[in-house]
Amino acid sequence: MYRSHTCGELRIENVNQKVTLSGWVQKVRKFGGMTFVDVRDRYGVTQLVFNEETQKDLCGKANGLGREYVIQVVGTVAERSNKNDKIPTGEIEILAEELTILNASEVPPFTIEDKTDGGDELRMKYRYLDLRRNPVRNNLIIRHKMGFEVRSYLNDQDFIETETPVLIKSTPEGARDFVVPSRMNPGQFYALPQSPQVFKQLLMVGGFDRYFQIVKCFRDEDLRADRQPEFTQIDCEMAFVEQDDVLNMFEGMVKHLFKTVKGVELTNAFPHMSYEDAMKYYGSDKPDTRFGMKFTELKEAFAGCGFNVLEDAEYVGGIVAQDCASYTRKQLDALTDFVKKPQVGAGGLVYIKFNEDGSVKSSVDKFFSPEQLLELGEKMGAKTGDLALILSGAKAKTQNALNELRLEMGNQLGLRNPNEFSPLWVVDFPLLEWDEDTERFHAMHHPFTSPKQEDVTLLDTDPGKVRANAYDLVINGVEIGGGSIRIHEDALQQKMFKLLGFTQEEANEQFGFLMNAFKYGAPPHGGVAFGFDRLAAMFAGIESIRDVIAFPKNNAGRDVMIDSPSPVHGDQLKELHIALTKIEK
Ligand code: ASP
Repeated sequence: MYRSHTCGELRIENVNQKVTLSGWVQKVRKFGGMTFVDVRDRYGVTQLVFNEETQKDLCGKANGLGREYVIQVVGTVAERSNKNDKIPTGEIEILAEELTILNASEVPPFTIEDKTDGGDELRMKYRYLDLRRNPVRNNLIIRHKMGFEVRSYLNDQDFIETETPVLIKSTPEGARDFVVPSRMNPGQFYALPQSPQVFKQLLMVGGFDRYFQIVKCFRDEDLRADRQPEFTQIDCEMAFVEQDDVLNMFEGMVKHLFKTVKGVELTNAFPHMSYEDAMKYYGSDKPDTRFGMKFTELKEAFAGCGFNVLEDAEYVGGIVAQDCASYTRKQLDALTDFVKKPQVGAGGLVYIKFNEDGSVKSSVDKFFSPEQLLELGEKMGAKTGDLALILSGAKAKTQNALNELRLEMGNQLGLRNPNEFSPLWVVDFPLLEWDEDTERFHAMHHPFTSPKQEDVTLLDTDPGKVRANAYDLVINGVEIGGGSIRIHEDALQQKMFKLLGFTQEEANEQFGFLMNAFKYGAPPHGGVAFGFDRLAAMFAGIESIRDVIAFPKNNAGRDVMIDSPSPVHGDQLKELHIALTKIEK
């Protein structure tokens, strides 16, 4: 028996019990003829004591222990004279009687502490050591609980968890595919699923009615903090449903998760906001609604003002930061620098201070009288003591910049409290998106998304105006999930492919199986997929999804621990009929 108890288990009630513990050496320290060893496992830390005088050999052995040695100790639980109220086992210690070294350890490359001295790259290279640290393990425990509660909730709602294949054909989620050469079919390749989209739809044709899967998806995209080349979705599909049926079902799931895993009761119904309003008031399809500061459109207010930067712009919009009229020159300069950053992309910033004494001060005093500025303030809902910030330029770009500025002000004013959760459904997305480069429409969600019934006639006359039965779940400015009611008729699906620029042959070649299936009684259906990693990161209160993934990849898509991707053997390539071209560095 390696252990009778874990290292996090013993309390004052256990005093005088003889116990066996196993774990890793966290720390060894000598103090006044005693040696103290902290032994750690997943469950906690317990202090062991060795007496120099009465246990000379044993104590010598304890003194020789290094960090991260794996040990087993037999001893008796005793009350500590010097109690530590920071840890649950802090009232007791183990008077050691036997010590076995189960395995030695080299000195670890970073400290296995909550606040480690190890940088990101080092932690990833030795991820198995990083996993011994509490914060990393706790994040993964949160993730585990979430997966468990997803299954519990959906099982109660009669969903069937079904695995779908990983070696498939290109899927249409708009990213690059990862491809896998087939040895048995020379010159041919599988693609890894960007999502199980078509399979879950086929399961509905197969009469499954309610499907879900916690599933790996693969997208070959440039990486950011919240992206990984392989990531996990909670993927779901339902038959005989309309949009509200899907939203209600999964609002229930998200509330269940918040309650059971985070202890947070989201009692209100999640608000619905149209895509149009989201763009108009927040300049983003994933608005952070923990705070107001909505946009006011000001194009008309500046017509004929004589200041051509504002007058000639396609779009002028502003926000009001409450009680910020006291912002100093320096702070305003910093905001101007912020909006001019390439990632934000504005040309400049116009500000108006509505001072406490009733006066107004702006960066455009030359062009406007104080009365005009006050009138403008009124239009924007600014009060005495507030600061108005205005951007102008091309519409999409400026809305985006104003969104960034709004979020920055939210940060500066402490309005983005990580312990507050503001979920909403963004609905009525456009069906199609015009792509300037390729001069054609792309599906905004994916090609299986159905148009709104009332907009179907626009498909022939003004496709850009057609709205879709598509929706996203957004929490605190993060897109947590998205889905749609699907097309289930062959003719409409064909029409959609045509609009997206597929020839009949291309559509048949890529999605013939789906259109064929639609000929055999496909039920009306719809679904949604949630980014499990992002939701877990939000629950863990961290920004990066990497720390809710046991073995993540770095920004270059590399696993630095196992050193992958890596070259393959010449024989392997030969077998696959693959020849490499010269790679320019
Ligand atoms: N397959 C979609 C996605 O990955 C989600 C859905 O439409 O259900 O975004």
